[in-house]
Amino acid sequence: MYQRVRYDLNQELSKIKEAGLFKEERLILSAQKPEIDVSYPKGAESRAVLNFCSNNYLGLANHPNLIEVAHKSLDKYGFGLASVRFICGTQDIHKELERKISEFYETEDTILYSSCFDANGGLFEPILSPEDAVITDALNHASIIDGIRLCKARRFIYEHSDMKSLENVLKKAREGIDLWDGRGPGLSCDPSPARNIMISTDGVFSMDGDIARLDEIVALAKEYDAMVMVDDSHATGFFGQKGRGAVEYCGVLGQVDIITSTMGKAMGGASGGFTTGKKEVIEMLRQKSRPYLFSNTLAPVIAATSLAAFDLLTGSDDLRKKLMDNTAYFRKSMEELGFDIIKGVHPIVPVLFRNFENDAQLSQAMARDLYEEGIYVIGFFFPVVPRGQSRIRVQISAAHTVEQIDKAIAAFEKVGKRNKVI
Ligand SMILES: *Cc1c(COP(=O)(O)O)cnc(C)c1O
Repeated sequence: MYQRVRYDLNQELSKIKEAGLFKEERLILSAQKPEIDVSYPKGAESRAVLNFCSNNYLGLANHPNLIEVAHKSLDKYGFGLASVRFICGTQDIHKELERKISEFYETEDTILYSSCFDANGGLFEPILSPEDAVITDALNHASIIDGIRLCKARRFIYEHSDMKSLENVLKKAREGIDLWDGRGPGLSCDPSPARNIMISTDGVFSMDGDIARLDEIVALAKEYDAMVMVDDSHATGFFGQKGRGAVEYCGVLGQVDIITSTMGKAMGGASGGFTTGKKEVIEMLRQKSRPYLFSNTLAPVIAATSLAAFDLLTGSDDLRKKLMDNTAYFRKSMEELGFDIIKGVHPIVPVLFRNFENDAQLSQAMARDLYEEGIYVIGFFFPVVPRGQSRIRVQISAAHTVEQIDKAIAAFEKVGKRNKVI
């Protein structure tokens, strides 16, 4: 049997390679930090490059205080729990971390997951039934898309960050118009008005670094009597005045019913996710959410160290401030050089090649040349981003020094001129 599968898979793999979409992993031989040792291509001797493509927004991935806490917690709590939460996998630190996150967001309760992918995967099905509707931004993260697939509520998609489009689908869901999305037999769709409605959006969209219009979304939700769920993975800890994400940045803290997020980005970057919000929602998730019930507990060392990360970030604004200063400096310098930057304030800084016919090739050539200059960034092109919008996505960290950012800017200038981009 496998002969045939092998043939089919090889055919498909060749197609991926021919399309230039084959993903290669680059080997890092050091800890995750602004300057890393990378071996690439495969087998090449490792060299030091400046890392501008990680989600290590606050530099906590290698923070000495957190590493110390991690060592101590390993000694006290051991390496693993070998159980799901409700059998024998809950330690005091797991409960404490849940409390800490609720405090941080001023929410009623919190439930931990092994990842935000799991948090989203296990969110919708326990909360929404076939008579409900879920309304989702067209560019939402894959884990939201998958989570929604697993629930039986009717799904409505609105154009990315388009409030007219959102209002249209809200009306349709409320009026019960048969807006079947093509999944399953259309006639079996229940044309009655939706019972409960949930609007679901990323807080920050990872490819453009743009912020969801949460103030407008919350206002529409009030008008049409809907719940709001925000996945704030690209914002938790560093965005908003106290690091409470896009929800805080948009001034709607306390008005969003459910927030999901990750500890795998700014919060130390190990792993772990959570859902925080209304008490009954969290209680129901503890009863029914499948990634919580049927997947192992978050490692104790991650729970304990994440606690310390939240403490560190409530205790001081320094890292956030440094990150915002670094971001503003990089954005301004790149614009002055003439690069086509998507305007914004987020440390995701997309450098586009919109004015060039060969934008896809440029994104790859630029990334390769920058790597040669010691700057590690990744170029994205269709179908990861829309046609004509190929880009290099730069991610700034609080751990970058001004000298390191200056090096990146100088390399962009040199390589940009060589490739006739500026
Ligand atoms: C990164 C990300 C996730 C996945 O988080 P993990 O904890 O790594 O599973 C989910 N949603 C969004 C919006 C993300 O950016």
